Amino acid sequence: MSYFRAAVDATTGYIPGEQPKPGTKIIKLNTNENPYPPSPHAIEVLRNIDSEWLRRYPDPYAQDFCLAVSEVLEIPTDWIIVSNGSDELLNVIIRACAEGSDRPVVYPMPTYVLYRTLTSLQPAEAIEINYPQDFQLPTDQLVAAKGAVTFIASPNSPSGHIVPLDDLRELATRLSGVLVIDEAYVDFAEYSALTLVKEFDNVIILRTMSKGYSLAGLRLGFGIANPQLLSGLFKVKDSYNIDAIATLVGAAAMRDRIYKNECAEKIKQSRAKLAIDLKNLSFTVRPSQGNFLLATPPKGNAESLYLKLKEQGILVRYFKQTGLEDKLRITVGTEQQNQTLLEALVQLLA
Ligand SMILES: *Cc1c(COP(=O)(O)O)cnc(C)c1O
Repeated sequence: MSYFRAAVDATTGYIPGEQPKPGTKIIKLNTNENPYPPSPHAIEVLRNIDSEWLRRYPDPYAQDFCLAVSEVLEIPTDWIIVSNGSDELLNVIIRACAEGSDRPVVYPMPTYVLYRTLTSLQPAEAIEINYPQDFQLPTDQLVAAKGAVTFIASPNSPSGHIVPLDDLRELATRLSGVLVIDEAYVDFAEYSALTLVKEFDNVIILRTMSKGYSLAGLRLGFGIANPQLLSGLFKVKDSYNIDAIATLVGAAAMRDRIYKNECAEKIKQSRAKLAIDLKNLSFTVRPSQGNFLLATPPKGNAESLYLKLKEQGILVRYFKQTGLEDKLRITVGTEQQNQTLLEALVQLLA
C-alpha cells in the first residue's frame, strides 16, 4: 500500500526550470525572470522592514498591496484577491471549482504545464485541447469540453501569442464555468483583457509580480474578479497566504509604474532585436508578446543545442513535449546576455 493517494502517485510533479544559486556565474534565460533589478522603492521598503511586522501574523487580505493595485489599475479593492505567487491562485481556483469528470479543468495546449500538474493532484479531470498550428483559439472545442474552469494564458507560454479580446469575449459568453485569463506576461504585451472582468461575472484575470516587476523570489500574485466570484476563492485559500514582507515590498513595486514600464520597454526592444538576430542565424522565431521567444534552430537539433549551451553556462528552456521537441524557449535577457547567447550560438551552429 502506498502512503499517498492514487492521484499523487500518478503525478510526475512539476519540473521547474533549473535554479542555480544566486551568484553562480550563469546566464539564466530559462524561466522568464526579468533581467533587471526590482524597483529601487521596493528595495528601500525591504531595507526598512520593522521587526514588529515579523512578530505579528500578516494581514490575511494583504490590504496594503490591494490598495496599491486598486490605485494603479483603478479597480475597487474588493475585486482583488492576493496570493503567494499566481501559482497559488491557480491551485485555489482548481480546488474551489473543479471535481471529477462533471466539473473538469479545460485548457488549450501547449500552455503553462502547471495547469496539468495542479489538476492531476486534485480529484478532477483535465481536458486538453490542442491549439491549431496558427494558434487561433479553438473556441468550439473549449466550449464543448464544458469546463468548470477554463484556463487561457494570454500572452501564452511557450508560444508567445496573445489571444484577441473578441475571442476571449466570445468564450466568456459561451462558457457556463469560470474563465481564468492568466496574464503573467501582460507587462510585455500590447493589451490586457482586464475590461472583461466588468463585462462577465465568470471571468477572473490573474497577474503576477514575478515577471514584469522582477519579484519572482518574493512570491506575489493576484486575481481580479467580481466579489461574488472571489468569495468562494477566499474560503479555500490559506488564511495567511501572503507574508508581511511581500505585502509591503509588493505595494511599493506596484506603485512604481514608471520604473516597471522602463524595464518592460527595454525588454520589448531587446526582444525585437534578439528575434532579428536569431532569424539571421536561420532560426524560425514566433512573434512574441512575452519576455521570451519560441525559436526553432536551423538543423532541428534543439535538445543538443540546449545541452551545449548549458555546458557553456547559458540556460534556456527545452520542453520534451509533442510539438516542442524541435524548439527552444529563450527568455529575453539584458543586451549583454543576449549578445553572449548569440555569440555562443554562432560558434555552435558553425
Ligand atoms: C510565470 C507564470 C506564472 C506564475 O507566476 P508566479 O506568480 O511566479 O507563481 C503563471 N502563469 C504563467 C503562464 C506563467 O508563465
